[in-house]
Order: sequence, then structure tokens, then C-alpha cells
Amino acid sequence: MDFVEGCEECGRLSSAYEAATMEWFRLQGQLRIAEYSREKDASGRIVDELNATAKKRQALRDEIEAHFIAAHSHKISASNC
Ligand SMILES: [Zn+2]
Repeated sequence: MDFVEGCEECGRLSSAYEAATMEWFRLQGQLRIAEYSREKDASGRIVDELNATAKKRQALRDEIEAHFIAAHSHKISASNC
């Protein structure tokens, strides 16, 4: 993923994306424990949370892409000249 240094929005989006990624890995770990200890209720709940986190990551990726096109695409084409 490309982020522009010094851009506040890039910084905000990248840390939000990073946090969602960390959360996803944390939930994966919890799911493994819940499955190992055969906690059906817990693993069902964690799977729901995993899906929500995956959606959040996807939404952030879209947001990053949209922001990049809106705010930084002119810089890329300029540097290509
Ligand atoms: Zn930016």
C-alpha cells in the first residue's frame, strides 16, 4: 500500500488499517483457542467478529484507494513526466 509521508489523512488511514489488521490476527488467535477448547458459542462469536473486521479492512482499503486517487494521483502523474 502506498502512503504519502506528511499527509495527515494517509497517516490516519494507515494506522486505522494497521489496527484492523492487528485486530484480525488477534481474533484468529482467539478462534484457534476457542476451537481447541471446543467452545462453540465463543468460536461462533469470534467468527462474526472476524467477518466484521475483514469488512472493515476492505472498507479501509477502498477508502485509502479513493483518498489516494483524490489527493495524490496528480503527484504520481507529475513525477512520471
Ligand atoms: Zn494522503
